Amino acid sequence: MRKKLKIALIGFGAIILILVLIGAYFFYQFNSETKVMHPAETGNIVDNIYSIKDAFVNMYLIKDGNQYIAIDAGKDIEVVSAELKKLNIDENNVVAVFLTHTDMDHVAALPLFRNAKIYFSRNEVLMLTGQKQKVPFMSNSISRKDYTLLDNNQTLNIGNTKIFCILTEGHTSGSMCYQVNSKYLFTGDILSLNAGKLGTSVKFFDLDHEMANKSISKITKLPDVEYIFSAHHGYTNDYKNAVKDWKE
Ligand SMILES: [Zn+2]
Repeated sequence: MRKKLKIALIGFGAIILILVLIGAYFFYQFNSETKVMHPAETGNIVDNIYSIKDAFVNMYLIKDGNQYIAIDAGKDIEVVSAELKKLNIDENNVVAVFLTHTDMDHVAALPLFRNAKIYFSRNEVLMLTGQKQKVPFMSNSISRKDYTLLDNNQTLNIGNTKIFCILTEGHTSGSMCYQVNSKYLFTGDILSLNAGKLGTSVKFFDLDHEMANKSISKITKLPDVEYIFSAHHGYTNDYKNAVKDWKE
């Protein structure tokens, strides 16, 4: 009896140890990957476009008259709220939020935008239902149940702002880029920007890294784009130079 108990205890200890080691591995990878990210500072960065810095991630706002359209919703609702105050932007004037995807560092401040309609890609629903998961037993979730699903190549007009949707799956099942008023491209997490050049997404955070790489090709031949706004690596005002050397 004692021997059985001993074996059970050793087995239990081994499982705990494995779980701790897996946790430590994820913690280490997460920290080292986010440490090298370089989002833009909070501010009015270009024309009518504002960035909000929330630790290692940016969300963006597009001003359209008295209203705003958000691209993503940050990782911490308190930080987003405080940064909006610095910019003198009333969260009640945000009328739409377009999510590039539903990872937790892109959706946290959704409850703040109570007057906004929420949009994201139809394929992203798989991340919410758990049919697609990056880590076993962990699905994405968002605070709103009323949302509008978008299809590849769909165009929407909100106020005077035109938004063209480009499905760029890989980082998540339904990652989507938004081309706003032809010249501004918001890419979420499907790519990185380093010294003004396109780079791949971060493999550790991808659902399917190879597919994410293939998706980048979809946004390298857009004739009217001038700016790229990434979620974790700032932005560039020289699209042509950024995509020039990209190899599929
Ligand atoms: Zn992200």
